[in-house]
Amino acid sequence: MRMLRTAAEVRTALVQSHRQGRAIGLVPTMGAFHDGHLSLMRRARADCDEVVVSLFVNPAQFNDQADLLAYPGDESRDALLAAEAGVDLMFAPTPEEIYPDGFATTVSVAELTDGLEGQFRGRGHFDGVTTVVTKLLNIVAPDVAYFGQKDAQQAQVVKRLVRDLNLPVRIEVCPTVREPDGLAMSSRNARLHGADRARAASLIAALQLAATLVADGQTEADAIEAAMRTELEHAGVEVEYAQVVVPETLEPITHIAGPALGVIAARVGSTRLIDNQLLRNR
Ligand code: AMP
Repeated sequence: MRMLRTAAEVRTALVQSHRQGRAIGLVPTMGAFHDGHLSLMRRARADCDEVVVSLFVNPAQFNDQADLLAYPGDESRDALLAAEAGVDLMFAPTPEEIYPDGFATTVSVAELTDGLEGQFRGRGHFDGVTTVVTKLLNIVAPDVAYFGQKDAQQAQVVKRLVRDLNLPVRIEVCPTVREPDGLAMSSRNARLHGADRARAASLIAALQLAATLVADGQTEADAIEAAMRTELEHAGVEVEYAQVVVPETLEPITHIAGPALGVIAARVGSTRLIDNQLLRNR
């Protein structure tokens, strides 16, 4: 696996592959790899001729400076894991490479970004995501880019960005990889210790409870949301949102009559976690 630091190096490294029409897969990440990230890389390896992973802790998408400073990172460990997963190129740029002096452009997706993560992390979060993803797609020019369902709203926002701007790339959304107790894998899980680690399992417990209620015929989102909140609060977790939404638009649902996604954001101690689960698929 080759480690590349600049956009120019990436373009040069991929010239031949582009000319020969080899299928290029991109997995954008912020590092601190776990099995969720590796599942995307393995999927890209299975689908594509050339696999590129980007590792960039994007300051623009952090609304909370303390969260950015505490974000875990170990580039040599990540490089070993990526190489083992069959990655060909790792693009790990500096912030100055991505945002040189005078950088003045923002790519922004409206509406879809207003609620949920947009509401709680602020307007700048998704603007940071969509701007950096646009740059990465332009630098690598992949045929396919892989994202995790774990960040459900992000995946939909990226799909909308690609559709709206006619970007020539297919977006694949891959299933959430979980710990044995159901906790969705996340780089931030490394910050959970002792009782907080046990409390964190209440997110998936609440989503499973919601799925059971729907399977048993409950169609009122209010009742499902109240049940999720109770489950989370009972575990000592501070809820930001626990909602039932339309999977593709993330719009709130009041009466379930079609596909429905349960989405949660909660603080476990000082760690903010998100998770989601399909409650009904049609
Ligand atoms: P991050 O490094 O947190 O920005 O995540 C990089 C990519 O990995 C994003 O597309 C995430 O949605 C995805 N991802 C993160 N956690 C998981 C997980 N537990 N299962 C599957 N994909 C994940």
